[in-house]
Amino acid sequence: MSDCIFCQIALGKVPSEIAYEDDEIIAFKDIQPLAPVHLVIIPKIHLRSLNDVTSDNEGLIGHLFGIIRRLAEEFGVAESGYRVVTNTGTDGGQVIGHLHFHLLGGKALNANIG
Ligand code: AMP
Ligand code: ZN
Repeated sequence: MSDCIFCQIALGKVPSEIAYEDDEIIAFKDIQPLAPVHLVIIPKIHLRSLNDVTSDNEGLIGHLFGIIRRLAEEFGVAESGYRVVTNTGTDGGQVIGHLHFHLLGGKALNANIG
């Protein structure tokens, strides 16, 4: 998907501050952080949102959450606490149409998530 910014990041064609990368997943710092720790974790394959996830992707999503957990440790928020968010569609506030998970932490987050 040449017009997808996150595909371009996954391909290394758009620079990002990479926190983790393997064959299936890349994690990078959000360009407009909402918290002291704000990472974006994506599968490298272009899935538009959680709505595109099927049972075929179960292994990938399980792997991705394992990496999120490791990143929470590495970035020092595992004990203090953190939030993982995936915005889906218009009402969900999704801006970039490539499945991604926000890892937010490093401060007391706003309790209002709705
Ligand atoms: P969402 O509203 O869930 O679609 O969030 C998209 C997120 O991607 C926002 O938090 C943006 O700040 C972030 N973002 C957009 N472009 C980039 C980029 N080039 N590098 C890092 N983060 C980005
Ligand atoms: Zn994409």
